[in-house]
Formats: sequence, C-alpha cells, structure tokens
Amino acid sequence: MLKDLFIGLSQNELLNTAAKKYGLKLGAQSVVAGTNLEQAIQSIKELNAHGIACTVDNLGEFVFKKEEATEAKEQILEVIEAIHQNQVDAHISLKPSQLGLDIEYAFCLENVREIVDRASRYDFFVNMDMEDTKRLQPSFDILEELSKEYDNVGTVIQAYFFRAEEDIKKYKNYRLRIVKGAYKEPAELAYQEKSEIDSNYINLIEWHLLNGKFTSIATHDHKVINHVKEFVRANNIPKEKFEFQMLYGFRKDLQLKLASEGYNFCTYVPFGQDWYGYFMRRLAERPQNLNLVAKQVFNK
Ligand code: FAD
Repeated sequence: MLKDLFIGLSQNELLNTAAKKYGLKLGAQSVVAGTNLEQAIQSIKELNAHGIACTVDNLGEFVFKKEEATEAKEQILEVIEAIHQNQVDAHISLKPSQLGLDIEYAFCLENVREIVDRASRYDFFVNMDMEDTKRLQPSFDILEELSKEYDNVGTVIQAYFFRAEEDIKKYKNYRLRIVKGAYKEPAELAYQEKSEIDSNYINLIEWHLLNGKFTSIATHDHKVINHVKEFVRANNIPKEKFEFQMLYGFRKDLQLKLASEGYNFCTYVPFGQDWYGYFMRRLAERPQNLNLVAKQVFNK
C-alpha cells in the first residue's frame, strides 16, 4: 500500500539525513514555509494579514545525539524570540523526539521546560505534537510534569488510538489539538478502518467541545468541519472555545473562508531543513498530494 510505503520512507534515517543537505525538493516547498526563520516569519505575516494565527514547527526528528537536541532547542528559542520581536500572531509546535526523548527522558524534559518557560515570559502557548505510540506516554508525562509550573502547554489527541477517549477525559483541562493520527499503529492499539477513525474523531471533538478547555480541531476534512459548525451552533459553544487548524499549503481557499467567516483559525507552519519525514507523512495521508511532486518534476 502507498500509505505504508510513504510511512516507511518517512522513517528512513539515511534519506532524512541526506535530504537536509539538498534544500526543499520534490515539491515540498508548497507545504513547507522555507528552510530558514526569515522565510517562516514572512509566511506568518502573510497569514496574519488574513486574520489567521500560526503555530510554528521548526522541523526536526531522528535526533539521537544530545548536541543535536540542544541545537534544536536553541533554534526553537530563536523562533520564540523572533515571534516576540516581530509581534506576529503565532505560537510553537514541537516534537519531543526532536528535543531528545529517544535519548533520555530527563534531558528531554529539561529542554521542553526551557522552551515552555521562555514562551511563558511572552505569554504564548507551546504545543507538544504527538508522535508514534512509543513516544505517547512519555509525552503525556512531560505535559503533566510541566503543567505543575506552567499553564501555557498542551498537546494532541490522536483519534485512531483506542485509548484516546480515556486520554481526552484525563487531559480535558489542557488546551488540546484533536487529530485523526498520522503514523502507522498496530491493530492491537488503534483503529485501522477510516470509518472507525472518523467516527471516533467526531466523538472526541464533540466531547471536548462540551467538556474541555480549548479545542483545536486540526483537519482538512470538510465533512468534519461542517459537522463541527453545526454542532457548535446547536450547542451554543462560543467561538472563543475552539479553533480550526490546517497545515500550511493545504486547502488554502478553505482556510481563508473559515477565517473570513469569523472562526478562529490557525495554520501549522513547518519550516527548516529537516523537511523530509514531514513531507513523506503528508504523501502517506493523501496520495493525491503526489500531485505536488508531479508538478515539481514536470515544471523543471
Ligand atoms: P483525511 O482523513 O486525510 O481526509 C478526509 C477527506 O478530506 C478526504 O477524503 C478529502 O475529501 C478531504 N481532504 C483532505 N485533504 C484534502 C486536501 N488537501 N484537499 C482537498 N480535500 C482534502 N498527526 C499526528 O499524529 N500528530 C500531530 O501532532 C498532528 N498534528 C497535526 C496538526 C495539524 C494542524 C493538522 C491539520 C494535522 C495534524 N496531524 C497530526 C495529522 C493528522 O493526524 C492527519 O493525519 C491529517 O490531518 C490527515 O487527516 P485529515 O483529518 O486532514 O483528513
């Protein structure tokens, strides 16, 4: 299956490393907002001009050396300073594995703490993206640990996991992004059928909208978005309690439409040299995204 192929490619360490050297290729530039911070800030300004907030991901994964994790932390701190200096409407998304989760839990916790602490000075939010099952519980543990000191940190619930319902109840007082889930997970742990994932996704969103703190509904699925619009109207849920999120470069017209309709909207803006794994996961989700590659190849 194409999905398995692209997930496999996304996890290929050699290709991840090689891609860093060659800049954005294969059409990745339509879904990655540049390789450096200046380009990312420019993209954020353009989105902000349309009333769209941003969550910024300084791309990185496959970090197995402490020096690399420390470098990733320093880069994210620079992003925080740049957001503050440019006074743009943006916050941070980060991946615990980028900050050393696969090396040592305590080391990663301190890296994330430093980032959350810096962001708290400027009163903006840090989201811990959720990765695959191996990193799930340690990421929740970091969240719980940091929330003893800070209230500007939240995470993601992936609807394909059987445990998602329990997790959403446990973490309802955090700002949560709810997604379908982007990794390949085993049948003992996760729904495999799209219909089952979609249905659990709707249940989780509805539950969190009614009971949770703040809900980020992160999807490109117009059926889900239309359902949520109806649901919030029927249940008098104020617009301040939720936002829609989509990835940079996807369904741009729909992004603008939702923002112009007065919904809180936030675009996930990935940038940096480590674009390869992120791009392969986008191809795994939606083989039509191969159009991005085809356009690039034939435009040469
Ligand atoms: P899909 O199930 O892929 O698509 C449903 C339907 O929507 C399609 O059949 C089609 O009709 C329509 N559609 C979808 N895309 C398009 C398009 N580009 N153009 C036109 N129609 C389209 N996953 C994680 O595991 N961890 C995370 O931390 C995480 N963070 C995310 C943050 C954001 C902002 C977003 C948007 C996604 C994130 N994801 C994350 C990925 C997520 O889990 C899904 O893999 C991804 O969003 C694909 O699912 P979907 O809900 O967008 O719709």
